[in-house]
Amino acid sequence: MTDDAARHREKMEKRKAVQDAEVAGKTLEKGLLIVHTGPGKGKTTAALGLMLRALGRGWRVGMVQFIKGGWETGERKAVAAFGPQVTWHTLGEGFTWETQDKARDIAACRHAWEVALGLMADEGVRLLVLDELNIALRYEYLDLAEVVATLRARRPDLHVVVTGRNAKPALIEAADLVTEMGSVKHHFAAGVKAQEGIEF
Ligand code: ATP
Ligand code: MG
Repeated sequence: MTDDAARHREKMEKRKAVQDAEVAGKTLEKGLLIVHTGPGKGKTTAALGLMLRALGRGWRVGMVQFIKGGWETGERKAVAAFGPQVTWHTLGEGFTWETQDKARDIAACRHAWEVALGLMADEGVRLLVLDELNIALRYEYLDLAEVVATLRARRPDLHVVVTGRNAKPALIEAADLVTEMGSVKHHFAAGVKAQEGIEF
């Protein structure tokens, strides 16, 4: 072995020992409350990635979309292949500036929350995505204290993913894992419209 190879090997052995000790120190197992927020693209995409991973483990998963309306998306078509492993509810009425009817938006969000409560109570469901719940909270269409208390009191083995910009501090406080998507660059700013297969 050359000197260089020997040095590399020694360094990697030390690194492995550090890594192994760190991993061995983490022993807790629990359902996570995960938040994807921030102005950049990827919040829902990352939630769908987790859903895919969970499906691969044979878990049952749920999706409740609080704002998005009924238009067809690639993700919804794709998960249809998993049959009863997926429960998917698109319950929004579109964006607030599209519906222009506050009472209707509030009613849609309340109904979506009731559906989410049902999925949280379903012990077969291991991962639940609450897409754009942050938007419903931001517009105060749902009671923040009630939502946070309910999420905190969830079954210990249930993973919940909440998406949407401007996550409320109380939700961030309650969460185990919070990722902020930053917008470095977005094609929308250059006049490129939402692309099939990438955005829907
Ligand atoms: P995606 O569903 O693509 O992961 P997202 O969940 O992070 O996006 P949303 O706030 O739900 O973002 O908005 C959805 C739509 O807005 C997507 O079509 C996305 O490409 C677009 N979008 C996201 N971030 C930006 C941005 N910084 N500028 C312009 N459009 C954006
Ligand atoms: Mg989204």
